[in-house]
Amino acid sequence: MFQCKDVAEEASNYIDGELPLGKRIGLLLHLVVCSCCRNYLQQLRSTISTIALLHPKEKDDTDTLALAKVLLKASKKQ
Ligand SMILES: [Zn+2]
Repeated sequence: MFQCKDVAEEASNYIDGELPLGKRIGLLLHLVVCSCCRNYLQQLRSTISTIALLHPKEKDDTDTLALAKVLLKASKKQ
C-alpha cells in the first residue's frame, strides 16, 4: 500500500507516465483517501504545466483525465 512518502518519491514518475500500472493504481488508491497527497500532486502538476508551457513536449493526456475523474469523485465524497 502506498504511503505519503511513496507518493512523494514516485510523483514525478507518475506525472511523466513512467510508473508501472501496479504502482500507478496503488498511487491512485492512496490519492482517493489522502487529501494531502492530492494537493501535493495538484501543485506539482501546475508547477510542471507551467514548466511545460516554457518547454513544450508531447504528452498523452489520458492519465490526467482519469486522475481528474478520480479526484472529482473523491472530493464529492467529503
Ligand atoms: Zn498521502
